[in-house]
Amino acid sequence: LRICRFDADRIGVIKGDQVIDVTDGLSDLLSTRYPYPPGDALITNLGRLRPKIETMSQSAAGIPLAKVRLLSPVANPSKIIGAPVNYQKHLEEGDRDNEIRQGRPRLTIGEAGLFLKANSSLVGPYPGVTVRFPDRRTDHELELAVIIGRKGSDVPENKALDLVAGYAIGLDMTVRGKEDRSMRKSVDSYSVLGPWLVTRDEIADPGKLDIALTVNGETRQSSNTSLLIYGVAKQIAWASTFYTLYPGDVIMTGTPEGVGPVHPGDIMRAEIQGIGAMEVRVRAQE
Ligand code: MN
Repeated sequence: LRICRFDADRIGVIKGDQVIDVTDGLSDLLSTRYPYPPGDALITNLGRLRPKIETMSQSAAGIPLAKVRLLSPVANPSKIIGAPVNYQKHLEEGDRDNEIRQGRPRLTIGEAGLFLKANSSLVGPYPGVTVRFPDRRTDHELELAVIIGRKGSDVPENKALDLVAGYAIGLDMTVRGKEDRSMRKSVDSYSVLGPWLVTRDEIADPGKLDIALTVNGETRQSSNTSLLIYGVAKQIAWASTFYTLYPGDVIMTGTPEGVGPVHPGDIMRAEIQGIGAMEVRVRAQE
């Protein structure tokens, strides 16, 4: 099942090149009492609502995908977790390009730990990325994104994939510089998630997916998640020893080599095997 959020917060199911709008059947989900529980309401209830969503998607009329604006499939994560240097060749490009590492020590992911990106930085393919500091370097980082479906803490690695609701494409956009990652990677619109959530049952092994990104048609990143240093299960288990994971939490699992700058007017096209592809426009700040 492929679930998207589109236009004015409609919820849709992807069927081929169509979006089936299933929002109206989910209205009871949208009434939540203050204080809101941690986590994303749609993802929290996805298991319970799935039969209803699937039934509705058989009968409702489709809208061509090309005519909708795809938002982040998760509206309200309790956190967005990032993984530094989780592909060996990305670690090595940091050795060659000091704008990436800025004189910081060469740490492995096990030494560096995970980091957090501000929830307020999250967008979908629409509206895309707005470059905040045109005088500084903003890089694309293409990453497999894992969306957590169940609450979990101290989850063993061999049970970690049971926590997954699904997968999406992530762009961990980054301002290069000396500040902490949590600042440079949390600029408004610098966490892109899309084009939709593909439920876990559609991805047999998240550690065997081709992953690629072009900018204006030119290939910048091309790799496979088999090259992740810490795989998906290990990252979930490890993260859950520090943070309780909640439904809707996003883990951006790290970028392969080929990161590089983008500029207003560029169009990034990101693709991950088994998930799909999305185009993301880079804009100038107004
Ligand atoms: Mn990254």
